[in-house]
Amino acid sequence: MRVVIAGAGFGGLELATLLSEEFGDDADVVLIDKAAEFVFGFSKLDVMFGRTSAEHVAHRYADAVRPGVRFVQSNVRALDPVARRVTTDDGTFDADILVVALGADVDPAATPGLVEGGHEFYSVAGAFALREVLAGFAGGRVVIGVTSTPFKCPPAPSETALLMHDFLGARGLLDSSRVSLVMPLGTPIPPSPDASAAILDAFTERGIDWHPGQSVRSLDPVRKVAVLRDGDELPYDLFLGVPKHRAPDVVVASGLTENGYVPVDSRTLATRFPNVYAVGDVATVGVPKAGVFAEGAARRVAASVAATLRGDEQPDGYPGLGSCYIEFGAGRVGRVDVDFLSGPKPTGEFVAPSAALVAEKHHFGASRSARWFGR
Ligand SMILES: Cc1cc2nc3c(=O)[nH]c(=O)nc-3n(C[C@H](O)[C@H](O)[C@H](O)COP(=O)(O)OP(=O)(O)OC[C@H]3O[C@@H](n4cnc5c(N)ncnc54)[C@H](O)[C@@H]3O)c2cc1C
Repeated sequence: MRVVIAGAGFGGLELATLLSEEFGDDADVVLIDKAAEFVFGFSKLDVMFGRTSAEHVAHRYADAVRPGVRFVQSNVRALDPVARRVTTDDGTFDADILVVALGADVDPAATPGLVEGGHEFYSVAGAFALREVLAGFAGGRVVIGVTSTPFKCPPAPSETALLMHDFLGARGLLDSSRVSLVMPLGTPIPPSPDASAAILDAFTERGIDWHPGQSVRSLDPVRKVAVLRDGDELPYDLFLGVPKHRAPDVVVASGLTENGYVPVDSRTLATRFPNVYAVGDVATVGVPKAGVFAEGAARRVAASVAATLRGDEQPDGYPGLGSCYIEFGAGRVGRVDVDFLSGPKPTGEFVAPSAALVAEKHHFGASRSARWFGR
């Protein structure tokens, strides 16, 4: 049974690894990605703030050699969910089970003025380019602004504000600077009032301006102002944006999407097409767009494929659980353990920032690097 996985991000890598672990050389998995390297989302912030180098955080797919898994570096040009066929620049792949794990693309050009007058830190290229920009920043008004929902890793803009404060402090630029955060959400981490309160306290302590329930509609690069959804304007010297997100064009063109993303059964990750699944940011599951959830969804699909191949009962439904690490600045990391699907509404347990959680976050990344890339 051939499993074709389109997209080798958090979801695709975990799924391919689990199938390889389960079936070894007997697995017949084709893993396709246009990129040569994988970069963890949180590494983008590390590179941008000069905490590590771009080379250090790039994981080459060529190193991810696993029994039963063939990696194909190619652009996916078309997906046919009826025929379960993936067309790439380097050939066509027919699947018995097709898993769409192509993530969400960011579209800076969709926000007028963002490309000309600001910077985005959500793509690898955008975040890495910001390293030089920040190194040359002489202080002033920094606006971190989200342009729309949904967006990946809801804590990331808050983390960016706190790390920006650290960055300015380390360069003696705090007196001449002001950091503002524009967020469409009403609180930083909606499922966890405790985590939200801790982040808001950290903002208050540092004098970070918080604009909840707002988004950035456009930038005026000439006047250097960010125009908010309600028409208010925020002047900036440096604008760091979270661009609009959307499913990759090839997914939209395949007919798999509704309201922008791929609807799935949130317990099985199955699409409405037989033997076609969607995991991670590309899907509408009822969980946030974050790596831990993409990974959890991939685990459920792997268990289902294994059960089918072995003739076993199907596994329990995808639980929608995940732990997100939150950079609080000053060398501390907090954690929120969120449960999106098991109760009537999402809940989140907050674990206060500590040095121990810095080590735990490091282990989170290092353990994935080891499992997926043998590093
Ligand atoms: C600044 C920042 C910080 C973050 N921090 C965290 C964090 O701390 N914890 C966490 O859990 N999540 C975090 N995230 C979110 C996380 O990175 C994503 O949610 C996660 O990567 C989604 O996994 P995925 O498998 O759905 O998609 P992705 O990991 O985005 O993978 C999709 C893959 O599909 C490939 N692809 C797309 N289109 C094509 C095509 N046409 N042809 C071939 N290949 C294609 C891409 O190259 C990519 O490799 C962060 C994100 C950002 C931006």
